[in-house]
Amino acid sequence: MPGAPISACSASRPPQRVTSHPAAQHGSAMAAAAEAAAGSGPGSQPPAQRRLRILSGHLQGSPASRAPEAERFLSPSQCRAGGAAEQPVASTIPKKRQEILKWNGWGYNDSKFIFNKKGQAEFTGKRYRLSGMVLPVLKEWMEKTLGASLEHKITSRAFLNTSDVPPSIVNEEFLQDLRATKISYSQEAEDRVFRAHGHCLHEIFVLREGMFKRIPDIVIWPGCHDDVVKIVELACKHNLCIIPFGGGTSVSSALECPADERRTIVSLDTSQMNQILWIDEKNLTAHIEAGIIGQDLERQLGESGYCTGHEPDSMEFSSLGGWVATRASGMKKNIYGNIEDLVVHIKMVTPRGVIEKSCQVPRMSTGPDIHHFIMGSEGTLGVVTEVTIKIRPIPEYQKYGSVVFPNFERGVACLREIAKQRCAPASIRLVDNAQFQFGHALKPQVASIFTSFLDGLKKFYITKFKGFDPNELCVATLLFEGDREKVLQHEKQVYDIAAKFGGLAAGEDNGQRGYMLTFVIAYLRDLGLDYYVIGESFETSVPWDRVIDLCRNVKERIVRECKEKGVQFAPFSTCRVTQTYDAGACVYFYFAFNYRGISDPIHVYEQIETAAREEILANGGSLSHHHGVGKLRKQWMKESISDVGLGMLKSVKEYVDPNNIFGNRNLL
Ligand SMILES: Cc1cc2nc3c(=O)[nH]c(=O)nc-3n(C[C@H](O)[C@H](O)[C@H](O)COP(=O)(O)OP(=O)(O)OC[C@H]3O[C@@H](n4cnc5c(N)ncnc54)[C@H](O)[C@@H]3O)c2cc1C
Repeated sequence: MPGAPISACSASRPPQRVTSHPAAQHGSAMAAAAEAAAGSGPGSQPPAQRRLRILSGHLQGSPASRAPEAERFLSPSQCRAGGAAEQPVASTIPKKRQEILKWNGWGYNDSKFIFNKKGQAEFTGKRYRLSGMVLPVLKEWMEKTLGASLEHKITSRAFLNTSDVPPSIVNEEFLQDLRATKISYSQEAEDRVFRAHGHCLHEIFVLREGMFKRIPDIVIWPGCHDDVVKIVELACKHNLCIIPFGGGTSVSSALECPADERRTIVSLDTSQMNQILWIDEKNLTAHIEAGIIGQDLERQLGESGYCTGHEPDSMEFSSLGGWVATRASGMKKNIYGNIEDLVVHIKMVTPRGVIEKSCQVPRMSTGPDIHHFIMGSEGTLGVVTEVTIKIRPIPEYQKYGSVVFPNFERGVACLREIAKQRCAPASIRLVDNAQFQFGHALKPQVASIFTSFLDGLKKFYITKFKGFDPNELCVATLLFEGDREKVLQHEKQVYDIAAKFGGLAAGEDNGQRGYMLTFVIAYLRDLGLDYYVIGESFETSVPWDRVIDLCRNVKERIVRECKEKGVQFAPFSTCRVTQTYDAGACVYFYFAFNYRGISDPIHVYEQIETAAREEILANGGSLSHHHGVGKLRKQWMKESISDVGLGMLKSVKEYVDPNNIFGNRNLL
């Protein structure tokens, strides 16, 4: 292995300086620590643990602290060994993912769209606002829009047949070394299959219809940074291939194993590295292990009164390390920023050693920012183990909203003006007419916040919306956050701008409903697959002056390609603007078609998606705004970042990982 031994690096934790004494804000640190250790004090053990975590954040290298170096800088392994006060907090997603997650579809086992005995669509389970509700219009929408019919149903395999799974090939010498580390691992077929894929259409299709040619041979669960160091050392020693696994929500084929990889493939599952190691209230940062998933992170920070505000639509399942590795973007980026704006410090274990900055500062002018080699590296350079991220006090007030525009063009013009005036709410999303109609299809039977948008509009429609064509209008949903008074002022400013573009305020409920649907929409693809409908979403970013043309051209291209490829039913081709910036916007496309009569639907689908991507690039859009490149889009990397740019990335890879230990073959 080249360079310095990586284990030596794990002690090089950057000092963090906190200038005020923690007791000034928190009363007696000693008393709180004693409370935590004794498991007593106000409330139960968890609040005491939380308090200790906050205090340890304050104590990181505090000049006031007289503790010797080793005591001042807690390493994760020390924290873990710290007894009752630092018991790992269980993740919502268990180590054995199969206990609650689907093996061949999206999300929780108990949550899915089905058609019940009466032939009505229903969303099962109890986890979401839509759970247990009947959706009387969905069936008709699927029939009309996609030509789907209940008579044409596919029954996919209910269970994973382990005899279909490729055998695990791991050499005994490596296993012996691994056992000596006492790090948890599994060679069971189910564990390996669960980590062999993300959530691209073709991956889910393979699971439903067959099996991957190549999957990880072994899953290893490090418990902390030092464990990762040991695993990477062993991988270098035995020449293995490591694929880091976070939440498994990749939509770029990033987790798929290269079919011709002959070395043992290790899926390094970060899920057991999921602790908030400290919270620093003075600098509003938190130092967190990279395997924590979004919902756990926000819940746990919330218990201490903080949030990161990073909310990708996949936040129920995706991990902090995954966000860093893919350069993720959350829906509230207007206030909190994208992952690159949120990250203060990253620690990554590579075959060459541990890479991290020497201090935790807001900005440095020390050549190109090394974080930008790490962010977006998609598991090709190493494993992100710990991240210091900005936190903010939980906002005092949240308010949803919505605006109806006579057409998409007016809506985009309004979003552009809001961006120009730099007054975008935490989230602002504009859906086109097809998605607006689709929202109606998800109307549940019961009267609630989910009352159809169209219903909600009826009474206005006759009066205010005269002149709005229901087949043209489009809707923006809004989410404001902050101090109550400021939110109300902000809201007025945004609605005033909207009015100049013919937009009419359409109520808080309609806005809230839009955001509530965010998490259940991902479950719809599995329902479609049961009825010969395949679908996918993909995204891009584009300068403002090209948004309208790009949206129109890409949607039309999809329709045209479907026809040319022999798709017998009209496709669903729709888009929304999901993020806005000074210089442009992020656009998300949804696309689905009924493949009855087509023998190789995935091949046809991939040809159409490729054509859509070509169209995006021809219209000045980016290869990706936040989904990343993976293996799915790497054919366009050279064209996207230039020959020289690609060469630079290659030389970084060559230096950091000359033996291609991180051999998932993403990006390059
Ligand atoms: C329904 C749905 C909605 C989505 N919405 C959004 C969204 O709003 N915004 C957004 O940005 N993305 C979104 N995505 C895409 C996906 O959630 C992101 O790419 C996410 O950041 C992946 O995180 P993960 O933990 O699931 O990573 P994984 O899928 O496990 O891995 C993704 C890649 O990162 C690497 N990796 C993971 N963890 C580490 C680590 N600790 N160190 C080094 N490499 C690592 C893997 O090797 C792989 O190459 C969505 C996906 C789905 C299916």
